[in-house]
Amino acid sequence: MTDSQSGTAGGISEGSSRRTDTVFHASIDLDYVIHRGGARELAGLIRFAGATQPADEVELLTRATLLKAKGLEAFPPCGNHDAKGWCRGHPTETDDKDLKD
Ligand SMILES: [Zn+2]
Repeated sequence: MTDSQSGTAGGISEGSSRRTDTVFHASIDLDYVIHRGGARELAGLIRFAGATQPADEVELLTRATLLKAKGLEAFPPCGNHDAKGWCRGHPTETDDKDLKD
């Protein structure tokens, strides 16, 4: 079995001392949680903001189903997400000298 991963290297512009990268939060797919056993597999692993205990299978299924009914495809991972729940990305400015120690 061959695993063909295509990694895309970010473009680093030479000559400038500062560059801007974008980081994206990973999201959990709602269809995975609802239809592909994700609620059972993730039970006890994910704690939602404000909760004192990790979510169980029923809570994961309930939350995923409610979000899906609102038209989302993923659990929103942050406040900067699109209408489907995916992170839009967060620009970060990096100083080249920070990378060189
Ligand atoms: Zn984000």
